[in-house]
Amino acid sequence: MKEYIEKNQPIFYNLIKNEFSQQRIPHAFLLIGNNTNIPLTYLAMSLICDETLACENCNDCRKVKENKYSDIIRFNGKDNSIKKGNIELIQDTFKKSSLEGKAKIYIIENIEYATKEAMNTLLKMLEEPTEGIYAIFTANNASRVLPTILSRCQVIDIKPDSKEVIIGALCQDGITKESAHILAYLAPSIEEAKTLYDERFEYMQLQVINFIEDLFLKRANLIINTQTNLLKKYKERDDIKLFLNMLVLAMKDMFHVKHTDDIVYCEHQEFLRNIKIDESQLIKQIEIILETIYTIESNANVPMLMDSMMYRL
Ligand SMILES: [Zn+2]
Repeated sequence: MKEYIEKNQPIFYNLIKNEFSQQRIPHAFLLIGNNTNIPLTYLAMSLICDETLACENCNDCRKVKENKYSDIIRFNGKDNSIKKGNIELIQDTFKKSSLEGKAKIYIIENIEYATKEAMNTLLKMLEEPTEGIYAIFTANNASRVLPTILSRCQVIDIKPDSKEVIIGALCQDGITKESAHILAYLAPSIEEAKTLYDERFEYMQLQVINFIEDLFLKRANLIINTQTNLLKKYKERDDIKLFLNMLVLAMKDMFHVKHTDDIVYCEHQEFLRNIKIDESQLIKQIEIILETIYTIESNANVPMLMDSMMYRL
């Protein structure tokens, strides 16, 4: 974990290293971004571990990592919006004596999903910090967090993992180069990329190539093949969104493959290069797919949306 953070999140790492070694540790941290999981765990471990920063091996570090540390209370605003009662529960629990005898930490992920009442109760807690109690928050976007909360926290931006880092880590795990490239475009972190890589992903990868083949070479088969091969198996909004996002990457590749070897679907270079395209037509087709991805959020009838997209393509 340390190695990864030192290399990929140097600002975060150097900041907390300085603070912890000088024992000037803020009472509240707010990590901003969609790649906060590992920094968050590392920070919580560092607050508890006897070493200056987390050693990652002691009993305490392990408990934190496995979510088994008794003096950590954790909520995620994405699972359930954070209410006043949640904050009061933290206050009541932390009033009692510590179970582990060290720092107590409350973690609220996606704090932008807290109600106004919850934010106000939280603000009171932050205004009168208690020795030994620390807060770690995360948010995707700082602009959605109350300025009064922001001003009481140390705000640290967490960067998404670079595509090269994600691809390297996935290939090391034995994932093929092409899959790794696609995943690096879809996920902001190594962790999320690995979660996304499953049977569904592999199926979609194959279907994207089939879809392109039908669309450009066997047009008459497009609708029937897509219905039988894709939509019979996967028709949920998230499934189709994944498919369409992967499709857009392949369509963009058709554009780039004429000028470069560096494409996402790198194992299909020849196939994509040999398809004759009209560039302005291709741009319009990509726009139609992007529009469909946008509409799918609010449209319940996914199969109908897909049919209408295929007619327009
Ligand atoms: Zn430790």
